[in-house]
Amino acid sequence: MSDISIRQTGVAGRITLMRPDALNALAYDMCLAIEAALDRWRDDDSIAHIVIDAEGERAFCAGGDIAELYAKGIAGDFDYGRRFWADEYRMNAKIFSYPKPVISFLQGFTMGGGVGIGCHGSHRIVGQSSRIAMPECGIGLIPDVGGTLMLALAPGRLGEYLGTTATRMTAADAILAGFADLMIDEAAWPGLIEALETGGDAAGLEAAATDPGAAPLQTHMAQIDRHFGGETVRDIMTSLSHDDSDFARDTLRSLSRMSPLSMACTIEVIHRLRGPSLTLARALDLEYRFTSRALEHGDLLEGIRAAIIDKDRKPVWQHAGRSVPPAEISKMLMPVRDNPLQLEGTVMKRAKIGFIGLGNMGAPMAANLARAGHEVTGFDTAGTTAEGVSTTQTAAAVATDADVVICMLPNGAILRNVAEEVLRAMKKGALLLDCSTVDVEAARAVAAAAEDAGLLFADAPVSGGIGGASAGTLTFMAGGTEAAFQAASPLFDVMGQKAVHCGEAGAGQAAKICNNMILGATMIATCEAFALADKLGLDRARMFDVVSTSSGYSWSMNAYCPAPGIGPKSPADNGYTPGFASELMVKDLGLSQQAAEAVDADTPMGALALALYRQFVEKEDGKGKDFSAMLPRFEARGRSS
Ligand code: NAD
Repeated sequence: MSDISIRQTGVAGRITLMRPDALNALAYDMCLAIEAALDRWRDDDSIAHIVIDAEGERAFCAGGDIAELYAKGIAGDFDYGRRFWADEYRMNAKIFSYPKPVISFLQGFTMGGGVGIGCHGSHRIVGQSSRIAMPECGIGLIPDVGGTLMLALAPGRLGEYLGTTATRMTAADAILAGFADLMIDEAAWPGLIEALETGGDAAGLEAAATDPGAAPLQTHMAQIDRHFGGETVRDIMTSLSHDDSDFARDTLRSLSRMSPLSMACTIEVIHRLRGPSLTLARALDLEYRFTSRALEHGDLLEGIRAAIIDKDRKPVWQHAGRSVPPAEISKMLMPVRDNPLQLEGTVMKRAKIGFIGLGNMGAPMAANLARAGHEVTGFDTAGTTAEGVSTTQTAAAVATDADVVICMLPNGAILRNVAEEVLRAMKKGALLLDCSTVDVEAARAVAAAAEDAGLLFADAPVSGGIGGASAGTLTFMAGGTEAAFQAASPLFDVMGQKAVHCGEAGAGQAAKICNNMILGATMIATCEAFALADKLGLDRARMFDVVSTSSGYSWSMNAYCPAPGIGPKSPADNGYTPGFASELMVKDLGLSQQAAEAVDADTPMGALALALYRQFVEKEDGKGKDFSAMLPRFEARGRSS
């Protein structure tokens, strides 16, 4: 293949990109050729390291070959793009985890697909001409090829800034942002490459490295952190528009050229990734969720048209201005059901899963696992079932032979009883994953019993409600050993959008208790504010419009609005049928107060929320109603009743 040279020179596996006239843009067959070489060289003892470079002075690799994507996409072939990205990302992941040093020399532009080849190795060399960028939002994609990993790891809010503005980093900037390691004078590169070919090792590179000097971006870090710290693109743009510095003006101008949907999803992906459970596999999976839909449902075709087909540079994006509805972001980032991204070593083979507790939450979670190809058997004392799930008569029967048993049960006492039965039936080494919300002590007791039985255990309660359970967008907060968390991770990816390993057994429940204490208080505050607004003659739809984009916004308002007919569909639109039952909120608030008592924490808002929900369930008509039914309760009351 003339576009790329793959060869062994001395002890080096050599890869040279050879399309200088096309700025070494990466074509599909080049990805496959790189992957094949990496596979060949992995166990070849005559290869000590991999050296990747490119011909020409202008670019190492300025991106992927998007003209071909456009040609296929405009003809209605969306599978070509999906195959391209899946194969490219698999190759990127192989570079990242390669067992031998991978050394790349990045002159001129390294952008998009070039970052995927050049910036995942062990030694990423930059020089005076280097300019590195993730410009995907400008054509309706999001930063991909694993670039969101570096963006999420970059200091402060630099990742959000670089991912949305497509700013070109100098060598020093790239080192600051974590896209490169060593600055070496480009005149020295040919000699260093020759030394690597003839037996020198990567340590010689360190010796040749020079001080990259001050990073231009460093001077803007305070502004970047201030403006890009918001939750959404709207927050970021609003913050920038209140700053009349040149930097803020230029940044706003850059953002105004980008696809709003792409920017919103970029911010969302970086936020979801940041934290202790960040891995390249997770980054690539989230990116693939977007890219696999980008031709068909995103702005990508229009973005490529405006940039390189018609070259009018006037793309007509799907969404105007600063606001992209959260539901549109969720749609682009939902787990991919058919042919999800498969990276070696990260995909759980078809597992045998026992699912106990097929209620409001458990049934859709189990159905999602079955849809993802797992063999799921369920049990519920109420005889409920779930789509694609076969059922049995006892908990022990679902546990026998299962690789994983998942519980989604009402409380800790029931969990303890069920665990006693299933732990005896499970095979050694299998995983017990409890997703119910229970007290920390119950989680720790079951963890200890599981360990005694030679089993893995994780407590992994969820947030996101029945909507999140159905859409596969739950957040899991997990406690347990690293081994248990890793074993559960592929299942979290099917059922949710994010999993955070919070610590030892019980830590997931601790996080859940704190989260739900906030939820109980914000739902009450939202409901009482609607009731007050009614009495002040304020229209509910206007109230929602204002608050959902103002400082009073919260999940209770924006995603689970307690007023019927307002905002996204919620239990309020279904006569307050749960959803999340008020008695479960009483349970969760009770758990938070019990925990606060035990550790002497002052939680007056939590205590008041518990008292109100308890009164609602025990003395009023709240039992069996969704926890958002606090709104009709407040509606019917005055200050003294
Ligand atoms: P649910 O009452 O709808 O479901 C619980 C199911 O467990 C029921 O179908 C019940 O029949 C079954 N069950 C009870 N005892 C059993 C046993 N011994 N063996 C087998 N099955 C048994 O409740 P849900 O809303 O699905 O909530 C389940 C858990 O998830 C709770 O711990 C809750 O706090 C938590 N949770 C709920 C939500 C929500 O929005 N509903 C959100 C986050 C977390």
